[in-house]
Formats: sequence, C-alpha cells, structure tokens
Amino acid sequence: MSAATEQADAVTGALKLLLRAFRLRGFEENYELIAEHANTESLTYEAFLYEVSKVEAEERRSRRIERRLKESRLPRDKTLETFDLARVPSVSKQLVAQLCDGTLVDRAENVLAFGNPGTGKTHLMCGIAHELVRNGRSVFFTQAYALVQHLVAAKRDLRLPQEIKRLDRFDAILIDDLGYVQQDRAEMDVLFTLFAERYERRTVMITSNLVFSKWDQIFRDAMTTAAAIDRLVHHARILELNTESYRAAKAHDRRRGKSSEKLDDGAKASKEGES
Ligand code: ADP
Ligand code: MG
Repeated sequence: MSAATEQADAVTGALKLLLRAFRLRGFEENYELIAEHANTESLTYEAFLYEVSKVEAEERRSRRIERRLKESRLPRDKTLETFDLARVPSVSKQLVAQLCDGTLVDRAENVLAFGNPGTGKTHLMCGIAHELVRNGRSVFFTQAYALVQHLVAAKRDLRLPQEIKRLDRFDAILIDDLGYVQQDRAEMDVLFTLFAERYERRTVMITSNLVFSKWDQIFRDAMTTAAAIDRLVHHARILELNTESYRAAKAHDRRRGKSSEKLDDGAKASKEGES
C-alpha cells in the first residue's frame, strides 16, 4: 500500500468517527458517493457541501417521521392508502386533504368523527393522523378508556397536571371510541380537564358512536356536557360517516359474490344502532 493510500484511509477512518460523533449519519453514509458525483460534475466545494447537507436534512426528516410514527402508537395498517374514501360519500376528498396538511393542527382546531360502528371512523381518523405525522406534526393515538384510566390514576397520584403537560407535546391527540364505556364521575372529570386544557392550544381528534345529544352519558350532568361540547366544537371539523357498516357491506358482498368497489348502496344511511 502506498503512503498516499494509507494517508487517505486514515483520513477516511477519522472522518467517519467524527461524523458518527456528530451524529451526521446521512452525511457519513452518502458523502463518498456525492464526492464521486462532485468530481465528475466538477462541483465547487460549496456545492458539494450543499449536496451533503441536503442529504443529511432529508435523512433527519425521515428519521424524525419514523420516530413520531412510533411514538404516535397509530396502527400501522390504518392509512389513507388502505382506506376507500368512495365508501363515505359524506366526506369529501377535499376536506380530507385539508385535514391532512397540518394547518388545522397549527390552529389547534379539533376533528370529530361520528358514525355507527364499523363505518370506518377509526380507520379514517388514523389515516388522517398518519398524514399529519408525514407532514411533520406529532400525534398520539389512544383508546378513550385507556386514556381515561391513565388520567384517573395520575389524578389519584396528584400528577394530573404533569400528565396533561406530557400530552401537550403532541400537536394532536386522537381519542378513539369516546363514550363507548360508561364513565363515572372521576373519569369524566379528568376528560373534561383535558379538553379544557387543550382548548384553543392543541388539537383533539375524537371518534364516537354517540351523537352529541347522547353525550350526557359521558359527562353525566347537562352543564358539564354542554361545556365540554362547546369547547370541542368551537373550532372543529365534524365528519359524519353515516354509511353502511364496512364489515357488514363486505359480508354482504361475499354473499352476493361481488366486490365492494361495485357496491353503490354505501351512501344509503344505515339506521343500525341509531336508536
Ligand atoms: P369504526 O371505528 O367506525 O367502528 P373501523 O374504522 O374500525 O370502524 O372499520 C371497521 C373495519 O372496516 C376496519 O377493519 C377498517 O379497516 C375497515 N374499513 C372501514 N371502512 C373502510 C373503508 N372505507 N375502506 C377500507 N377499509 C375500511
Ligand atoms: Mg372505531
């Protein structure tokens, strides 16, 4: 090995160590390829540096998204790619695009999805949440009962403010199936506190089978119910998924031997469970 090659290898080794220490992984993994390209294209030193910096920025962006996706606890398969929007004619493509771009979250507006069981509320809202993460926002997905249990325990340990603050670092919380379980007084108290704390500061996304007129089942007394609804809907988009249950439609398709894409009766509001 020539002295020159030895020296070059030593520089490479030392450079890689430094890049690792600086946590410049995108830089470390790509600079050699970019250097070759810079050679053939006769790039200036500055242009070369710009190219590596761009790769580093992109690498960081995708790592941040991956980390936020993990933290979000969103089900991985419930994305908009796997959601058939044609099945919910009451929700326009345009509105979904608006909900996904992140500006709504930046204005701390809320998104509420209502509909009978199986109409795709959870899937659609998770899909929107996935897009929000891809667009640089942070989301936390939780079942309503789990969140409530968690907050009740925190309150008992005199840690409720800290817990609510911890949730504050998420631009949006997606609370799935609100009202599915009957709440007692302590449970509705913490939920109310959470909504009040996030009001006009941070987004709340909710799916629920219960229409507002039945929310006194959640918040028990009329005053608290009215106050909670008032805060939630003040700046909110409301999605109504009053189609036939997706599961029922699928089963129906199988019996009749056709694909769900050809079904055109999805728009007919099913009255199931709407008593
Ligand atoms: P809900 O939350 O309203 O009870 P889900 O979102 O859990 O309904 O949907 C029930 C099942 O049907 C899930 O497996 C979901 O992925 C699927 N599903 C519902 N609507 C659609 C749709 N429009 N396109 C694709 N899958 C759907
Ligand atoms: Mg659901």
